[in-house]
Amino acid sequence: MKIIDAKELDEIVNDNDNIDYFYQNQLIIKLTPNTQNKYVVKYALNYFYSDHDENEAIDRINSIYSLLNCVKCNEIKDNNLRFVNGIGVGNIFPKLMLVLQAGGDCAGKLPHENVISPRYMVIGTTSDFLKISLLKANVYFQSWITNLLKCVINNNGKTVRECYHNCSKILNQEIKILQPQTIVAMSTDVSKVFTELRMPFYKLYHPMFYIYKNIKSKLAEDLARI
Ligand SMILES: [Zn+2]
Repeated sequence: MKIIDAKELDEIVNDNDNIDYFYQNQLIIKLTPNTQNKYVVKYALNYFYSDHDENEAIDRINSIYSLLNCVKCNEIKDNNLRFVNGIGVGNIFPKLMLVLQAGGDCAGKLPHENVISPRYMVIGTTSDFLKISLLKANVYFQSWITNLLKCVINNNGKTVRECYHNCSKILNQEIKILQPQTIVAMSTDVSKVFTELRMPFYKLYHPMFYIYKNIKSKLAEDLARI
C-alpha cells in the first residue's frame, strides 16, 4: 500500500503503462483540488483529496481489501461460478457511491483466465460510459463506483439469485467502511437490495438503458442533479 502524489504519475506511467501495475502495487493517488494529471482517470484505481488523513485512507483501503472473499458464494461454488470478488474504484472518501449490478464479465461469459485484478469488475463498456458521464457531471473525483455482484457467475438463474443475496452482505460492509454521503442504485436488483437493507438511496437507470435509448447525454444530466 503506497500513497503517491498525482504529479508523480507521469513518471510511473512512462515505466509501467498498464493498470495492473497500479493494482498490484496498491497505489493510492493523493489529489489536490487542482490536480490536472491526464493519467489520473485512466490509471488511478483509488484516490483521495489531500484534505483527508492519509492513515485513514490506508485503513479504509485495507478494510476494503479484507472483504475480497465472499464466503457465502464460496460455499455454493461449482462449475458455473468463478470468483473475481470485485471491489469498487474511486474516491476513498466518496460523496457519491454508484452501485452497478455486475461487472462486464458477468453477462453470461466467464472472465479470461488471466484476470488478475479484482478491480476489473468496474472496467468495461458500461463502466467507461458511466465514468465519462461522471466527468461531464463534474462529480467523477468525488465518486466511488462498485457492483452489487462481487462474484462472477454463468447465466444460471438459481446461482445468480443466491449470489445477489450473498454478495449484498459485502456491499453492505463496503458502504459502512466508506460512508458515502449519497448512494445511487443503477439497476432494479440493486434498488431491491437497498430497500431490503432499509438504506436510503437515489435511483437512476442502468447506464446501458441510456445507451440503448440513445439518450447518452442524459446520464450526465441526471448525475449532475443528484
Ligand atoms: Zn458472492
